[in-house]
Amino acid sequence: MEKVIEIRHLQKSFGGNEVLKDISLDVNKGEVVCIIGSSGSGKSTLLRCINLLEDPTSGEITYHGENVLSSRLSRAEYRTKMGMVFQQFNLFNNLTALGNCTVGPVKVLGRSKEQATETAMKFLELVGMDKYINARPSQLSGGQKQRVAIARALSMEPDALLFDEPTSALDPEMVGEVLKVMKTLAKSGLTMVVVTHEMDFAREVANRVLFMDKGVIVEDDTPDVIFTNPKNERTKEFLKRTL
Ligand code: ADP
Ligand code: MG
Repeated sequence: MEKVIEIRHLQKSFGGNEVLKDISLDVNKGEVVCIIGSSGSGKSTLLRCINLLEDPTSGEITYHGENVLSSRLSRAEYRTKMGMVFQQFNLFNNLTALGNCTVGPVKVLGRSKEQATETAMKFLELVGMDKYINARPSQLSGGQKQRVAIARALSMEPDALLFDEPTSALDPEMVGEVLKVMKTLAKSGLTMVVVTHEMDFAREVANRVLFMDKGVIVEDDTPDVIFTNPKNERTKEFLKRTL
């Protein structure tokens, strides 16, 4: 299997607070890895370290065999390859849906306006938002905003997409439309790392599920094992409280 990301002995502290402790993890091409765990267990920090929104305190991140922490150049390029979808959408409110999807490709990747628009339209159509290309975020529902945010991330043509609780800020009736888009992406072979509380989604879509507790990956296994026969007591306890 082709590894996209290899993380070895990743550690992250904020002041004296060790939030990630000796995390090692591989993400293979085309794989959907779901991360579950209680609030405060370090899930967001792990995602933010994976795309270098946070600097790891120590450890290694290797991307297609290259250590991305060692050179400034490879870091910048690496960051464009790791798309991110946030709980709170983080759209640019002054731009239209289409503008949100073209600004990165034009400004960061140096694409022409025409080329960026063509790519963005393809992804806005994929997420079912092609009818809303001229809408501003304030005119869209939460589910629509998140679908634009997914199209924006895809428009950068990333190698992997990282999702941090993409449905947690949504009204319940809008969760389904976003999960549906994510399932389509998963089936298309996109490499995805998804922090989620949607256990049905993890069970159905993930190739692997990681359970995190207190900054440690406690268990890393198939959804079948995690949800029906977890080996670790802390995983069992968590699922008993959650399911
Ligand atoms: P989760 O996403 O699993 O809820 P987080 O990664 O957000 O967990 O947080 C893990 C711990 O790291 C928490 O104790 C949180 O307060 C702390 N933390 C996260 N980000 C920062 C930060 N920028 N500065 C200080 N502490 C932080
Ligand atoms: Mg979080």
